Amino acid sequence: MAKQKTAANRKKFLADLREHLLEMKSKLHEEIDSELKAEREGAKDEGMDTYDLASEERDREINFILSDRERMKVKQIDEALSRIEEGAYGVCESCGLEIAEERLKAMPFTRLCRDCQQDQEREARSQRRFDDERNTYRKLGSTDADEDNL
Ligand SMILES: [Zn+2]
Repeated sequence: MAKQKTAANRKKFLADLREHLLEMKSKLHEEIDSELKAEREGAKDEGMDTYDLASEERDREINFILSDRERMKVKQIDEALSRIEEGAYGVCESCGLEIAEERLKAMPFTRLCRDCQQDQEREARSQRRFDDERNTYRKLGSTDADEDNL
């Protein structure tokens, strides 16, 4: 019973998130369109006929005008949307557990749960620390200093 309720909540949560992502995307496209319009006005001034573009050409134009940041954002939104369609969204890529809704709300494009993210960060840190410690041990000529706060 409780599990069924959770699954239903999750479904609702994902549906809401999907709406939110679609909204983000259409807002982004509005911004892009207005940029395109401005660009087109400029092009007209240069005597170019650009108001009847084929969609392929238009896509190319969009790609040209979009900043890297906008392009990245559209890509992230598209990827998240297709992961939602596939039912793969919100599942940690490392441990396969569901990522907490609070985390997804704060970071809708994350692919790792908090634990796995922390593990990865810890691993990166301990790798650095291991290197530091080796240098320290070599200097001290001792291996009994195993405090965690080095
Ligand atoms: Zn995980």
